[in-house]
Amino acid sequence: MTSNATQPRFLWWDGEMIPWQEATVHVTQMHWSAVSAIFEGIMAYWNDEEEELFVFRLDGHLQRFLRSQKLMRMRPDYTEQQLTDAITGLLRANEHRSDTYVFPYAYPAGGGRYRNFSSAEPRPAQITITTQPSASHLLARDLKSACISSWTRISDNVMPPRIKNIANYRNGQLASSEATINGYDMPILLNTAGKVAEGAGACIMMVREGKLVTPTGTDSILESITRAAIMALAKDLGVEMVERPIDRTELYIADEVFFCGTAAEITPVTSVDRYVIGAGDLGPVTTAIEQRFHDIVRGKDKRYASWVTPVGAARAVSAD
Ligand code: PMP
Repeated sequence: MTSNATQPRFLWWDGEMIPWQEATVHVTQMHWSAVSAIFEGIMAYWNDEEEELFVFRLDGHLQRFLRSQKLMRMRPDYTEQQLTDAITGLLRANEHRSDTYVFPYAYPAGGGRYRNFSSAEPRPAQITITTQPSASHLLARDLKSACISSWTRISDNVMPPRIKNIANYRNGQLASSEATINGYDMPILLNTAGKVAEGAGACIMMVREGKLVTPTGTDSILESITRAAIMALAKDLGVEMVERPIDRTELYIADEVFFCGTAAEITPVTSVDRYVIGAGDLGPVTTAIEQRFHDIVRGKDKRYASWVTPVGAARAVSAD
C-alpha cells in the first residue's frame, strides 16, 4: 500500500496490473461511456484470527457482472475464472489487511462518441477493477430512518433494474437526495405498480407475523447477491421466507424492517415515514440474521465456506 490508505498501489485494467497513477484515459472518452457502463460492488472481509481476506460471493457477483455486460450488449472478453483470478491477484498485490470494497467496472471501448451509442454487434468492453479499504458496519447498531420516496423505481421496460448499469443509479440518487433534504437517512422506492421495490442501493426485507418477507424478483429490484444469501440463511435459521409484493403500509406496521446489500450489509430501519417499526430498536430476527451474516462473510462460519473466496493474504506478504 502507498502512504495514502485509500489509494492502493495497483489497479487492474484489461488483463494487466498497473500502477494507480498511470491508469488514465483521454478526457473525450468520458462523454457517453457511463451511459452503458456496468459495474459490481463486492466486499472482501478481513479475518483477524486467520490473517486472511475473504471475498463474499465472488461467484455470484461475477456471474451478475457477465449478465449486466450481456444486457448492455458488451462482448464478454473475460471469463468468470479470469476475473476471479484478477480480483484475488489484485487484492494480494495491494496487500489489503482490512475490509475492502472491490469495484469491477466495464464500459464500451470507444464509448466517448455519440455515434458509438448503439451497435448491432456486442461491443468490445474495457474493464477496470479497483480495490479500496472500506470498513464494515456489521453489528454496529447502525439504526436508520427511512421514508417512501416520491420518485418511482425504474422498471424493466424503462431501464432494467435487475442489472448494475451506472445510469440506473440516477434514479436512486434522486431519491437519496430527497430523503436527505427531508431529514431521513434512506429512501424506499415504490415500483410502477405502487408496491415496495427497494432502497437506493439496497434491497428491503420486513418481518410480519414471524415471517421474513421481501419483494419478488419482478418487483423492479436488482438481482441482489445479499438478498439471495439472506433468503438462504434465514431458512437455515428456521425463519420462514416469503417473496411477494409488499404494500407501503405493511412497512409502517411491520415488526422489523431492514435493508440488505453489499454496502448496506444489514441496515436495520427503525422508522418509515416516522412510523416507529416494532419497538423502535433492533429486532430479534434482524439480530439473528446480522450475527450469522457477519460470521459467514468473515469466513468464521465454516458451514458456509463455499460462499467466500480466500484471497491468500499471507502469500501476498511473503511474495514481495
Ligand atoms: N439494489 C440496488 C439498487 C443496489 O445498488 C444494490 C447494491 N448492489 C442492492 C440492491 C443490493 O445488491 P447486492 O446484494 O448484490 O449488493
